[in-house]
Amino acid sequence: MTPRHELLAWVRAARGAVRWHIESGEAELAVPAGFVMPPLGRAPAPATAPGSPGPRPTAVGDVRPRPPGSDGPGPRGAPPATHGPAPHGLPPDERREALTALTAHIGHCTRCPLSATRGAIVHAAGPVTARLAVIATAPSVDDEAVAQPFRGPAGALLERMLTAMGLSRDDVYLCTVVLCRPPEEREPTHNEVAACVPFLKQRLGLVRPEVIVAFGELPMRALMPQSGSILKARGRWLDWEGIPVMPTWGPTSLLQDPEKKRPAWDDLKKVMTRLGLTGPRAEGGAPGKNP
Ligand code: SF4
Repeated sequence: MTPRHELLAWVRAARGAVRWHIESGEAELAVPAGFVMPPLGRAPAPATAPGSPGPRPTAVGDVRPRPPGSDGPGPRGAPPATHGPAPHGLPPDERREALTALTAHIGHCTRCPLSATRGAIVHAAGPVTARLAVIATAPSVDDEAVAQPFRGPAGALLERMLTAMGLSRDDVYLCTVVLCRPPEEREPTHNEVAACVPFLKQRLGLVRPEVIVAFGELPMRALMPQSGSILKARGRWLDWEGIPVMPTWGPTSLLQDPEKKRPAWDDLKKVMTRLGLTGPRAEGGAPGKNP
């Protein structure tokens, strides 16, 4: 990445993070202490000597090279957003192949009535080594138009939320419970969820993120049917197959009811703590260091 691209990426990240902090009602807004704007035309950083602490991470827009076997850019000042082999021991390449095979297996699926009305199947997206996965209920019109999850206004809001956490959408595994958009944005039925949720579970089992964020009651209950109401479960850690799950309000819900943004941000901060992310506004510590 050239210095100019690095600067533009930083500006985009900072703008998204600040906007999310304003939207969520976070009181303090500040450029992280210690952040140094990278000068344009900066010479490439020298190679890190073995045993040295490595380059000092920036608070926003860290573009350090990823470790071998990881995908996409990592968060700033934190462990990389992706990891190596999942706990089950399958290396990333094999998991990628398995995900590709699963997509082929789904094919032109007609396993539920949504196949009759959908415009396109919207498969999950993101690196197989992602540390974080987020799940929404179903694709939106915008998602369907490009066959990609979390697009349109909800996707833009998600990107601001992730940026404030110190992540980008490229770091995160993005999923929906059903892969086909229900007509008129209705909720998928029990049978439609039952037909499609095995695909979601297989994907999550291959990615095995360190944390899952369930956006709303339906995604939460799709994985954990006994989890009850989102009103009671929101903000509390649940467990699916040994993976911590944080239920909270998702971008679509936040667009409909902005009052939920503050509690949703409180929930996401718990996720940040769990993942060791400091985000662009670290509290109580230097950028790049866990408090
Ligand atoms: S929602 Fe899932 S199960 Fe139903 S048709 Fe689409 S891919 Fe198949």
